[in-house]
Amino acid sequence: MNNLQNFPQIQTLLDDTRLQNYPHLVKAYFAKKVVKDCKKNKEFPTKHDLILKISNALNAFYKKNFKPLINATGVVIHTNLGRSIFDKESFKACEKALCSYTNLEFDLNNGKRGSRYDNVLEKLKILFECEDALIVNNNAAAVFLVLNSLAYGKEVLSSRGELVEIGGNFRIPEVIKAAGVKLNELGTSNKTHLKDYENAITKETTLILKTHKSNFTLKGFCEEVSIKDLGILAKKKRLISYYDLGSGWCGKLPCNLSLNEPEIKKLIKQCDILSFSGDKLFGSAQAGIILGKKRLIEKLRKNQLLRMLRIDKLSLIFLNESLKAYLQKDYDKIPTLKLLNDDLAHIKQKALKVQKALKFKSLLKPSKSLVGGGSLPDKTLESFVLAFEGNALKMQENFRKKGIIARVENKNLVLDFRSIREEELDTLISIINEMENLC
Ligand SMILES: *Cc1c(COP(=O)(O)O)cnc(C)c1O
Repeated sequence: MNNLQNFPQIQTLLDDTRLQNYPHLVKAYFAKKVVKDCKKNKEFPTKHDLILKISNALNAFYKKNFKPLINATGVVIHTNLGRSIFDKESFKACEKALCSYTNLEFDLNNGKRGSRYDNVLEKLKILFECEDALIVNNNAAAVFLVLNSLAYGKEVLSSRGELVEIGGNFRIPEVIKAAGVKLNELGTSNKTHLKDYENAITKETTLILKTHKSNFTLKGFCEEVSIKDLGILAKKKRLISYYDLGSGWCGKLPCNLSLNEPEIKKLIKQCDILSFSGDKLFGSAQAGIILGKKRLIEKLRKNQLLRMLRIDKLSLIFLNESLKAYLQKDYDKIPTLKLLNDDLAHIKQKALKVQKALKFKSLLKPSKSLVGGGSLPDKTLESFVLAFEGNALKMQENFRKKGIIARVENKNLVLDFRSIREEELDTLISIINEMENLC
């Protein structure tokens, strides 16, 4: 073929026996795409080569899927790897409600329409000892809903040190603006004092926002005002205090992590309203969990936006199971907490088991892992890794192709056993032993 007119008809390509097993819609999409790309690149393949290109594209398409991965990065809350994972048993418990009709918004006592939040509301109130609660799609939605419901057309105070970007384009100043709220920024990027807040209050001020810095820390000559002090100030000045906590924790966290990071239950006593993500340290489904004073949560419930930001039933039903686990103090059912609380001796034992079973040589080394997910950026956890000698980047790629996500440390490829679960060890061993070379 040597000119644009000579491309075969799409139908001729689709009728080729080599494509006969693919559904028409899918193969038509790729046949058109391949022909279009060839024309654009001024390539003129034979019909045979075109069919090959289309089959390759179809193969790649059918390989594209959500795959189970082994997280050997050591980062337990890894946003790119799906943040928190579901506990199998809890997930099984959701199956019945998910695969049948359920009382999602139906009151079984009177046969009338019920509230979506009814099955989880009391669990939240008991767990966090708060007046009222609400759940939305994610914490970004929670921040938006809180600001829009409580401060629309008014002014909110925020320290310049907390006008942060969380990732995925979530920037506090932009969110404030998008919620229809005026930002009154105060203090400096490294130091903000209580008197800065006091001095900044105007007639228009309705809310004091504190944002957890989440994914970075300030060290050295710096100062911020605690939510406790902001809560007191807000009360004195008849303003609302709101804490965007980002990644809150509850129950049990290794003590070097919980140091200076109070649990949610304590923080909610210090402010009027707070919100956090369901799938960061809390270790459940994607959700934005909002806790606070009844009169404020009522305003959120009345906001039209709630309908647009509402949590879907899959996440809600799973969250309900996590809340049950929390109330039973059954923290093993929260995989994120289970991994973060895993003791060093057990991590070493996991690493040794794999080291012994591997046909490749590795070195057992102590190391440190990060928590991840914009949680506790300055804190690390002790861990053990297996380190492999050789071209680390090539090895990382080879592991990745087999579904093992590893990290490079001191130019060595390492598998960090902080984030590898006991039940994955046998799979990990067989995947690696099936490889001919590591690099
Ligand atoms: C992560 C985070 C958010 C966004 O939460 P999502 O659940 O990812 O939507 C908002 N604010 C802070 C402080 C965060 O850490």
